Amino acid sequence: MTVHEPEPLLRIEGLHVEFPTEDGVVHAVDGVSMEVNPGEIVAVVGESGSGKSVTAMSVLRLLREPPARVRADALTFRGQDLRAMPPRRLRAVRGGPVGMIFQDPMTALNPVMTIGDQIAEAVLLHQERRDRRAAQARAVELLELVGVPDPGQRARQYPHEFSGGMRQRAMIAMAIANDPDLIIADEPTTALDVTIQAQVLDLIQKAQAETGAATVLITHDLGVVAELADRVVVMYAGRVMETAGVEDLFVRPRHPYTVGLLASLPRMDTDTDALDPIPGNPPNMSNPPPGCPFHPRCPLARERCRAERPALLDLGGGRRSACHFPEEVGP
Ligand code: SF4
Repeated sequence: MTVHEPEPLLRIEGLHVEFPTEDGVVHAVDGVSMEVNPGEIVAVVGESGSGKSVTAMSVLRLLREPPARVRADALTFRGQDLRAMPPRRLRAVRGGPVGMIFQDPMTALNPVMTIGDQIAEAVLLHQERRDRRAAQARAVELLELVGVPDPGQRARQYPHEFSGGMRQRAMIAMAIANDPDLIIADEPTTALDVTIQAQVLDLIQKAQAETGAATVLITHDLGVVAELADRVVVMYAGRVMETAGVEDLFVRPRHPYTVGLLASLPRMDTDTDALDPIPGNPPNMSNPPPGCPFHPRCPLARERCRAERPALLDLGGGRRSACHFPEEVGP
């Protein structure tokens, strides 16, 4: 008897995204595969330009095509093919069963509409029976849930009357307005002060617990990953380098790039707080190096790495690494 694995909530297979530019074609995402299961928090981590945000945006078809060129072997949400979905259905998915939190809420919020009206609008869009009063009341309830003080009055204010942290709270309220199955949060705390960052992270955790939604958390910040994630996908040069449970990744990374990222974290356990950044720079994605894209910066690189692109190999125990020599990698 064949045992069928349950279908993941979100499945991305062989995703490629290219942007034609004057300097040539930029291969922003180069064969990314990952899946997200119901209720789990998956962090997608990497330096800027690693393709993590472009991956998330192409899942929800938020990139303008053209100029972007997107292709994938599979792109499914709850088993439904997102590539074949008509624009109307896609709009119903975004902000409905999939909630989104962006880095800069100012670009996502409408500046000439009150916060309360925007949240109410999000509620109404996904309701069969359009009850504006109930939606307004729900907006106030949601603002209270995300810790906006005096929510009744704040609902009547415009985005520019909110601080950065409060705007991010309003975005989170919109993202969870329709009880989503999946929340995609793209660098949700990057634009905020450190103290506010911690509050917003707590709130995302609370929102996740409240809705039971799976969460894809896109971040360059390994501190955020350690705090929130169940599983981690490490990206570099538009490819997945490693995936692992969060503890495994921090305790025993199996890819030299992950080792480099961890070494560049501030240390709490030694007297020195000197960081050890990865030497060199990420590659030019219109002309990436042959073989392993990390080879120009990798301390373990050798001839094979320069010639042969490593596949993302299953190492067992839910771990995968795109390195020819994962057994040689140590913390
Ligand atoms: S394949 Fe080679 S260059 Fe790439 S990460 Fe592994 S050891 Fe380093």
